[in-house]
Amino acid sequence: MTKGLLCFAGVIIAVVCACFTDAYGQTSNSNSTSRQTEEYLNMPSIAPIGVKIGKYMDVPPSALGPAIDAAKGYRVQDLGSGLYMITDNAYQSMFLVYDRGVVVIDAPPPFAEHIPEAIAKVTDKPVTHLIYSHSHADHIGGAKSLGGHPIIIAHDDTLRLLKRAADPNRPLPTVTFSDKYTLRVGNKVLELSYHGNAHEPGNIFISAPAQRVLMVVDVVFPGWMPWRRFALAQDIPGYFAQVEEIGRMDWDTLVGGHVARTGTHADVDMQVEFDRDVKNAAAKALASTTPGVGLNPADKGNPWAVFDDYIDRVAGQCVNTLTPKWSNRLAAFDVYIWDQCYAMEQSLRIE
Ligand SMILES: [Zn+2]
Repeated sequence: MTKGLLCFAGVIIAVVCACFTDAYGQTSNSNSTSRQTEEYLNMPSIAPIGVKIGKYMDVPPSALGPAIDAAKGYRVQDLGSGLYMITDNAYQSMFLVYDRGVVVIDAPPPFAEHIPEAIAKVTDKPVTHLIYSHSHADHIGGAKSLGGHPIIIAHDDTLRLLKRAADPNRPLPTVTFSDKYTLRVGNKVLELSYHGNAHEPGNIFISAPAQRVLMVVDVVFPGWMPWRRFALAQDIPGYFAQVEEIGRMDWDTLVGGHVARTGTHADVDMQVEFDRDVKNAAAKALASTTPGVGLNPADKGNPWAVFDDYIDRVAGQCVNTLTPKWSNRLAAFDVYIWDQCYAMEQSLRIE
């Protein structure tokens, strides 16, 4: 998206507005009409939310993972000692094989129907346990594809949220915990623990100590920008703290629940650095931007409009600050940087 294109979009919006003005017979003097077409000063070259562009920036090689067999629609990655990741290169789940059965961790609907066949290639043992990382339908809504009646383990808050959701595709957990839970099956161990609200209440850490694997879903996105608004984090300060906590923990392979590959400590370090840079950029923009400047005087009795204009200018400055350093380091920077800046300025103002 070039600045020229943005100007062009502005002209189109102005023309559309003019049509509506005529259609509804609103009175508006030429001065206020022309003010509506003015751009914000120093408008970023990255398209703002809701503006369609021809082509997003290319995904850098650092964000890619091993290819998917298109006919199968998924791939399986051996994480060692009976633990496997299954992924369609957009979602990730895991399964652990022990002497008498299989423990599945999450069942994302996009490939959940393939989980039984993926397991069957490794073992003929039944699925005895299912662990929910958290309550969100996009990670566990394929639970019924596993068949049978596995023991379902989750956090207390996940049970609470699933009772409220009353979704037949997300059967209720049968075993819950509040702080820590160790699952021992045969000679295999998974350590489940809760580290507070960040993405949503009940989102747990799943550690496989023998395999040196940590699974935390919807918090770290190896090689990529977090999903919009820091992956819809319900507590942004808590989310930032959780990314740092993951970085301090002892593991070799991170399974983040999304994107095309597993993560390393370098990926977590990069996200910590990005989070800090967004926070600093938004804080600086909040401090250096004055509400109401440049606003149409006719809107000054509308506090919602005053704040909308202020927040737009803060977010624009935040995007401008981050673009030179980050636009080529994390995949999809251009897709979600406005969302991250809007989420950050709001968090800094009210949390
Ligand atoms: Zn989620």
